[in-house]
Amino acid sequence: MASEEAKEYVLPPEVLEETMKASEELWKPVRKIKFRIYKYNPRKDYAPYWEEHELEVSRGMTVLDALLIIKGEADHSLGLRYSCRMGLCGSCAMMINGKQMLACQTRVLEAAGSGDVVELRPLDNFPVERDLAADFTSFFEKHRAVKPWIIRNDDVELNNPTGPYKQTVDEYARYYQFTDCIKCGACLSACPTAATDYEYLGPQALAQAYRYIVDTRDDGLDVRIPVVDTEHGCWRCHFAASCSDVCPRGVDPAQGIQLLKKLLIKRKFGFKPHKPAEALPAKVKAEKKE
Ligand code: SF4
Ligand code: SF4
Repeated sequence: MASEEAKEYVLPPEVLEETMKASEELWKPVRKIKFRIYKYNPRKDYAPYWEEHELEVSRGMTVLDALLIIKGEADHSLGLRYSCRMGLCGSCAMMINGKQMLACQTRVLEAAGSGDVVELRPLDNFPVERDLAADFTSFFEKHRAVKPWIIRNDDVELNNPTGPYKQTVDEYARYYQFTDCIKCGACLSACPTAATDYEYLGPQALAQAYRYIVDTRDDGLDVRIPVVDTEHGCWRCHFAASCSDVCPRGVDPAQGIQLLKKLLIKRKFGFKPHKPAEALPAKVKAEKKE
């Protein structure tokens, strides 16, 4: 029985052959590309320098593939950060020919365009940890500062839950896009404000503050206001939107920041982001009506 079920998933030989051919085409070397790589170990190097490597690249080769070949065959000391290799962990963001991109999601030939050089350096606006790996300490401190979790004041319900929290599709839609953030740092790196104000919270943290504040399950507005409604908070944003332009997940942090500003202004006139009753679990609400 099991083998009959399995048969359903076997590709017909002609499809398999076509797939194999397409795969061979994708991995066939087609061009020589020069990689110009930033090298700097702040613990031992007096100043940064560049290293060059040439590779035969295929149409399917990503910048991360190329870097791992270089690290394995030419420079074992090359410092870079990566993990999932599928655009989900956000670890491999770097400057690729001057733009913030994920190395695992960028094909070498796409980055090179009509040229034959791909220049790689660590994210702008971040201190360098080593070579292509940026130091994310301050980035994550800013992320933590906005308390990126659901804050609730109803300890009784928290400790003895009576049911799931009800949320409508419209309420969910208010923050949904911001949950796609993978904390890659590309937005902060592209932000002109962050380039001139090291203390600026930045697009990632501010958009996350908005994400939690408008979540109907959250009661943390008053806790987050002293963090975001400040000189280095949302009012520093000039709305250039270069943050949204580079986000590899299609998140629009610039929009989140403008919505956060709107919410703070409305609050000064007594508006609340959502009715507290909506943050009660479905079961409790039902019992209250009876
Ligand atoms: S919109 Fe705001 S956060 Fe985004 S890049 Fe511009 S100044 Fe920075
Ligand atoms: S908002 Fe986009 S660019 Fe910024 S950290 Fe999140 S995923 Fe990266």
